[in-house]
Amino acid sequence: MIKVCKFGGTSMSDGINMRRVADIIDADPSRRYIVVSAPGKRFGGDTKITDLLYETQREVAESGCVGESYRKVMARFQSIAEELGLSFDVGALLLAAAKEIERERSTDFTLSRGEFITGKLMAELLGIPFVDARDVVKFGADGKVGRKTFQLLKEALKDKRRAVIAGFYGEDANGRVKTFSRGGSDVSGAIVARAVGADEYENWTDVSGFLACDPSIVPSPCGIRELSYKELRELSYMGARVLHSESIFPVREADIPIHIKNTFRPGDEGTRILPTAAYLAGAKTMRTVTGIAGKKNFTVIHIEKSLMNTEIGFTYRVMEALVKHSISFEHLPSGIDTMSLVIDSEQVSGGVLESLGEDIARAVSPDRMNIMTDIALIAVVGHGMAKSVGTSARLFSAIANAGVNVRMIDQGSSELNIIVGVDNCNYERTVRAVYEEFFRE
Ligand code: ASP
Repeated sequence: MIKVCKFGGTSMSDGINMRRVADIIDADPSRRYIVVSAPGKRFGGDTKITDLLYETQREVAESGCVGESYRKVMARFQSIAEELGLSFDVGALLLAAAKEIERERSTDFTLSRGEFITGKLMAELLGIPFVDARDVVKFGADGKVGRKTFQLLKEALKDKRRAVIAGFYGEDANGRVKTFSRGGSDVSGAIVARAVGADEYENWTDVSGFLACDPSIVPSPCGIRELSYKELRELSYMGARVLHSESIFPVREADIPIHIKNTFRPGDEGTRILPTAAYLAGAKTMRTVTGIAGKKNFTVIHIEKSLMNTEIGFTYRVMEALVKHSISFEHLPSGIDTMSLVIDSEQVSGGVLESLGEDIARAVSPDRMNIMTDIALIAVVGHGMAKSVGTSARLFSAIANAGVNVRMIDQGSSELNIIVGVDNCNYERTVRAVYEEFFRE
């Protein structure tokens, strides 16, 4: 059994927490490959190491030398090394990193030093080898991590029973350090899991997994114990955030389950994300709805034209107008003579909406075109919906009973989700009503 474990910034935030992490790792011999983030916040108002390094980069750009922010980075790492009682000379490592930062003058390189030094410390604490992500995670010319990375990782880890790998960065096609986007150690963890053919990718964070809906809208919603990759995709797309969205793909391709766990409550069950087939086969009692997520600020362009279905190239011409303005759409619910384009409002701000509307009108001469702004979308997600009779009746009665007018409906063709559009101002009320209906049973 091989587990790859990724620990996030709060798990690494100080020496006490790093010890906690070491205990978690030592408690299970299958926890073999450890991917780490840089230290995050210790308390509200604290600054993450990665953010201090951003500041460092600004200072280097202005004065050519590291300054006050880097001194703070040094102080954080030195106090961690002291708390851990490590004889390891972290001071020398930090001074060498400062020289390189001043020489390289690259934001990605500067940011990567957080994970690099954390990885070195963690490897020292566990007494196991450290693997520099620069040597094994290779971005291709297209900016994506290619197959070569899997081979290099496999090669580097084949004779190591256990190892620590720095998260968040790798090396680009020109041999320079390159980082993933923020939160990218999740992606590094998934890549390592895929490379070693892990049985499970454990992602350790500071929450006990996914919740059935946003806790800032519904206080203490219930946790989701298990969900499928498909459900995860739907929920994360709509804003449910625990994992970096790109981290799903490497493990999903290899059918490796992800287990989200809480470093501060290791006894909690957490959330298991399973390949869809395994999830469907293993589910004993499946809830009708697995989770609810949503986002505000969409624009819906509703187009009506009689006999739209007989007009060849109608959708094509609408799409041409979108392409002209470099706009992508989120959803495209349609009827026989109607079509709605759901677009993230940011994409059509600053007069773009008006000129897009004119282009669509010119391209397809609709009978009627209606533009709705300030729309919130709520996705109600669950494989269980396909099997339960009356789900939409329950959903829409709950929304009606809350006094909310539904502005748009879109049911994904997989029957995995129903997306409801309401006015922004009714968003929270709708989420609460839907949660009450499906989770307080
Ligand atoms: N340290 C990086 C960040 O704060 C990467 C990570 O934590 O995954 O975004």
